[in-house]
Amino acid sequence: MLYDMATRFLSEEIAPRYEEFEKAEMFDRESWTKAGEAGLLCASMPEEYGGSGGTFAHESAIIEAISHVGVDGFGIGLHNSIVAPYILHYGSEEQKKKWLPRMASGELIGAIAMTEPGAGSDLQGVKTSAKRDGNHYAINGSKTFITNGQLANLIIVVTKTDPSKGAKGTSLIVVETDEVEGFERGRNLDKIGLKSNDTSELFFNDVRVPTSNLLGHEEGQGFIQLMQQLPQERLQIGTTAIAAVERALALTIDYVKERKAFGKTILEFQNTQFKLAELKTEATIGRVFYNDCVARHIDGGLDPVTASMAKYWLTDLQGKVMDECLQLHGGYGYMNEYPIARMFRDARVQRIYGGTNEIMKLLIARSL
Ligand SMILES: Cc1cc2nc3c(=O)[nH]c(=O)nc-3n(C[C@H](O)[C@H](O)[C@H](O)COP(=O)(O)OP(=O)(O)OC[C@H]3O[C@@H](n4cnc5c(N)ncnc54)[C@H](O)[C@@H]3O)c2cc1C
Repeated sequence: MLYDMATRFLSEEIAPRYEEFEKAEMFDRESWTKAGEAGLLCASMPEEYGGSGGTFAHESAIIEAISHVGVDGFGIGLHNSIVAPYILHYGSEEQKKKWLPRMASGELIGAIAMTEPGAGSDLQGVKTSAKRDGNHYAINGSKTFITNGQLANLIIVVTKTDPSKGAKGTSLIVVETDEVEGFERGRNLDKIGLKSNDTSELFFNDVRVPTSNLLGHEEGQGFIQLMQQLPQERLQIGTTAIAAVERALALTIDYVKERKAFGKTILEFQNTQFKLAELKTEATIGRVFYNDCVARHIDGGLDPVTASMAKYWLTDLQGKVMDECLQLHGGYGYMNEYPIARMFRDARVQRIYGGTNEIMKLLIARSL
């Protein structure tokens, strides 16, 4: 029911304006507020904090709807199932009451700022510092590639509260950007895909926030918190991947049934049949694996290694399926008026962010 409701909302409210957002390279705040009113924000947060009291399965239904409708740049998946859970799991009662209801309404738009120009895969290299000064932290540093970067007004910043301690000196600090000075948004970065998402640079110049914005009871917990939450981030990227695979196949099957060459439909060529038979089989395997990961995750049993397998394998599959499906569209597949063209471009980053697929393989290999 949630999937149907989300599909209806996204088709009626977002899809008609999607081209406009792709051109502007960002969404507008109104779309977020409307999504909040429709119950699509913080679906898995408890009702006492303004959420809908669901689980990751509910978030998954919403993310699948986003992908199936084809509005992948709408950054509510990150807001819902990456940013909000940090506050739920590590926030004090006061922090949860302060931030989650406003995230559920869309008043606060979430982002998480880990990556820096000099620290991507190797997050231990984060340089952004948070220096304690009485009951405040002074944050200094720069971040890049931050999803929702132009619109976000609640940003979880990965900082070093004690640079001498490496990973153990890492802390997560919430910055409510409307309430601080010294915070600047840099360029909204020019990407090859996911155009409508405002992936941006962020700068922190002596940004002072109260020490009560630290997530967790003490400093130095940031790295452990990131490691605990990354499996859900990775699974969420898998959600987008499997949903895109299914959409691409459905679109392509329709296309090859219509398009003709040499007096036959494209589907009548054995090459087309074999390709689609292979892809459909892999999509089915992917769906079964994905659903099993979600079931395990809801029961609390999805280990980080399996989550890494899901991220790496499903996004690799997505890349392969987009490429093959585009090929079956011929020249029309290269034209932006056909959805497969955008799906091909949007897919590429899935193997890069959330931990690159090479890093996923390292994590899997370490467990062997
Ligand atoms: C569209 C987009 C949105 C993003 N959103 C966010 C966000 O919201 N928040 C955020 O914090 N970050 C975000 N990122 C950043 C993303 O997580 C990083 O780009 C990613 O982690 C890789 O880091 P890097 O770009 O510095 O690549 P690098 O770490 O420089 O890697 C370069 C290459 O080297 C490989 N490599 C690195 N280390 C190893 C190793 N040990 N063994 C083998 N190969 C290795 C990598 O796999 C990659 O192929 C986003 C990025 C993009 C493109």
